[in-house]
Amino acid sequence: MASSPYMIELREVTHAYRTKAGPLPVLDSLSIKIPENSFAAVVGPSGCGKSTLTRLVSGLMKPNEGQVWLHSQLVTSPRPTVGMAFQNPVLLEWRTILQNVLLPMEIVRSPMSRAEAEARARHLLELVGLKGFEDKRPSELSGGMRQRASLCRSIIHKPDVLILDEPFGALDAFTREDLWCTMHDLREEEPFTCLLITHDLRESVFLADQVIVLSGRPAHAQYVLEVDLPGKRSLDDLYSPRAVEMLAIL
Ligand code: ADP
Ligand code: MG
Repeated sequence: MASSPYMIELREVTHAYRTKAGPLPVLDSLSIKIPENSFAAVVGPSGCGKSTLTRLVSGLMKPNEGQVWLHSQLVTSPRPTVGMAFQNPVLLEWRTILQNVLLPMEIVRSPMSRAEAEARARHLLELVGLKGFEDKRPSELSGGMRQRASLCRSIIHKPDVLILDEPFGALDAFTREDLWCTMHDLREEEPFTCLLITHDLRESVFLADQVIVLSGRPAHAQYVLEVDLPGKRSLDDLYSPRAVEMLAIL
């Protein structure tokens, strides 16, 4: 079996959940290729298997059939080299923002010293606009700020891959667009491979290099759109003729 040259590769992945009513097929021979340091967005209707896909990539679940490759290795168990962020970030209320960002360092083995990790956490918090909030508690922050802190936490340990499962879905449109720009800032500073699950087509075109459209039950990749906009995008780029054309295709 040949190893994968991609950072993330799904080969003919088929998965069904076992339920009381019998097997529930969710993914049907799904193949996806995500090169190192590129950004892939997956869009598709609710319940089509997007979160299932993230669990297979992070190794929380094994597919019934097919293979999941991450960084040239077959995924067979949970991987600390994957960072994750979700729609409702769970921050620990009894800890400060800085302590929350440092949480993965207590769980994941890392060559970084405690002092290095703290300096990195402070730097990331500054990058996402949370300088001055290091010692605040999560309850003192707005929803958007909590999501910013959770993004810092998900990359503090320098994971190979960041998986974002609808992280901006609960935010108002203005805050959401601010966070898209923050994502570009973060990746300009430090490239990483990103797999974003979203319902928002504009978000997918603004952030991703490729948009994978899932459809059908069980779901398969119906369409893959290569996004050919400038690497670091401004919100104005979403109104360019090419962006409008791509949004129409989606
Ligand atoms: P999405 O994230 O695209 O909304 P999910 O991957 O969460 O979809 O779910 C896909 C389908 O699988 C849904 O019909 C959901 O009800 C079902 N499902 C998800 N997780 C489980 C589970 N642990 N056991 C049984 N069925 C599940
Ligand atoms: Mg989901």
